[in-house]
Amino acid sequence: MGLRTWIEGWPAYRQMTSRDPLGRGAAAKSQRSRELPVRTASAERTVKSVCPYCAVGCGQQVYVSDGRVTQIEGDPDSPVSRGRLCPKGAASKQLVTAPTRQTKVRYRRPHATEWEDLDLDRAMDMIADRVIETRRRTWQDTDENGMVLRRTLGFASLGGATLDNEENYLMKKLYTALGAVEIENQARI
Ligand code: SF4
Repeated sequence: MGLRTWIEGWPAYRQMTSRDPLGRGAAAKSQRSRELPVRTASAERTVKSVCPYCAVGCGQQVYVSDGRVTQIEGDPDSPVSRGRLCPKGAASKQLVTAPTRQTKVRYRRPHATEWEDLDLDRAMDMIADRVIETRRRTWQDTDENGMVLRRTLGFASLGGATLDNEENYLMKKLYTALGAVEIENQARI
């Protein structure tokens, strides 16, 4: 390695001699970083999406090769996030591709020690049956003084932060129509 190459390897030297005196751009980039291939270069196509983790709704570009997600980056066209993702959103590829991701309905019967797979239609029917039965059993038309209540305390809703505005709107509408009063979201806890 020549003397010049050796000196240019120092970020401080590059800071002083380049147009990046604060060392926040090219001066901070090492030779190794310059030579690394771009992770998205091999993608066959990109698909626009929205980060599912929170209600900010940052725009994402999903890079796909051979029908598989290979990388997820921020979408510069998004007026919400303008190309940025927080660390959680930047790691959302793991949410999609993790081998431990659940893709089937899992059910553990009362007192059972093992989980079992359930057909989605069957699971939906079971939930609907329980909601109807619980509402019927716990419905309160009036209180002991005859004041109108028209509610049930038999079930409640606890939403997660991955729900978007539209999902929260529909859930609030559904539960209120059913007479539930305990409608909460994890983001407020
Ligand atoms: S989790 Fe982060 S990247 Fe995803 S929408 Fe929220 S702020 Fe944006």
